[in-house]
Amino acid sequence: MRIPYSSRSDKTILVCYNENMKTILTGIRANSILTLGNYLGALLPMVRLANEHSKDYHINIFVPDLHSIISDVDGDLQKNIIRGLKYYLAAGLEINENVHIYRQSHVPAHSELCWILDCVATMGETSRMIQYKEKSNGQESCNVGIFNYPILMAADILLYSAEYVPIGEDQFQHIELTRNLAMRVNHKYGEIFTVPVATAEQVKFMEVDNGLRIRDLLNPEKKMSKSTKAENSKIMLDDAPEVAAKKIMSATTDSFGKVKYDMWSQPGISNLLQIEALINDVPLQDVISTWAGETRYGDLKKKVAESVSTMLSTFQAKMAEISDEQISKLLEEGEEYANNVANVKLLEVQKAFGLR
Ligand code: ATP
Ligand code: MG
Repeated sequence: MRIPYSSRSDKTILVCYNENMKTILTGIRANSILTLGNYLGALLPMVRLANEHSKDYHINIFVPDLHSIISDVDGDLQKNIIRGLKYYLAAGLEINENVHIYRQSHVPAHSELCWILDCVATMGETSRMIQYKEKSNGQESCNVGIFNYPILMAADILLYSAEYVPIGEDQFQHIELTRNLAMRVNHKYGEIFTVPVATAEQVKFMEVDNGLRIRDLLNPEKKMSKSTKAENSKIMLDDAPEVAAKKIMSATTDSFGKVKYDMWSQPGISNLLQIEALINDVPLQDVISTWAGETRYGDLKKKVAESVSTMLSTFQAKMAEISDEQISKLLEEGEEYANNVANVKLLEVQKAFGLR
């Protein structure tokens, strides 16, 4: 089945949904400015994956804004959404007719399918989600969205028959839940949903180190997180390059006095080696060999500080070049596509459940 998503004559390319082409789907919440950890661990690998596959896969990049309101949003959500989308372009995302960018709340089918899947999922399986247990902290005052969001996530995936959903380890359980819900519906009503591939296969497909965790600069035994309060513990993508360099120079190291890659005993130094390798896109092993045995930590810090500040200058210059209008145009086209594809799947489900 091919669904033309635009009949308007002002479109330069007529984009079609080709059912024989598989879909890769991804999204990052736009709640706040991202860190260097988010960039190196999530954004950059995703952009590389998209660029590598966008000739033969549909690439759906969506802003999960309904997921955003589960927790506090830093600043203005609308501005954050635009900035979040600019991040992808500044990180090198190449746009072609197979790349679709849309906002979740602008495709009402997500919320509608979520409700239907709510009536398929059990309290037992949903209550077992680790993210829910962690985020709710056992408090009855936690909002129902925190409990329900894995089901919304299942709808996000199943509406587009996405087989590949590049995600961090913390979301693996939600992929398994999505698979279970899809199989349950298919078992009862026939082959309605494409079941996303199992997490082990997802990881293989992504070809990235899923366990990759850039460390907190002040407490390198922890990972860098955007919600950490201490400013010097994290590098934000909008940090002035010279401020970021200072943060690297004051990063916590150790008293061994010899550069060695060992995340257990020397996490601070190992983190710097890791950052240096990722930013310059060279094998970690090469960076480790270059610096092995070096006794002056200051020299390594200076080199990493330079790499980080150069990367930020380039990234920020690219961000400044992307206009809001460019993003609006991508959203307009992407949302037309997304609504058409999602509504066809939703109607199929509604009919199966006797709602149409
Ligand atoms: P928060 O403090 O709000 O949890 P976070 O920085 O941990 O923020 P998330 O929103 O939880 O970020 O995750 C967004 C994406 O970034 C996920 O794919 C996650 O795996 C990845 N990610 C988060 N922190 C790091 C890190 N330190 N190194 C590498 N990847 C990371
Ligand atoms: Mg996190």
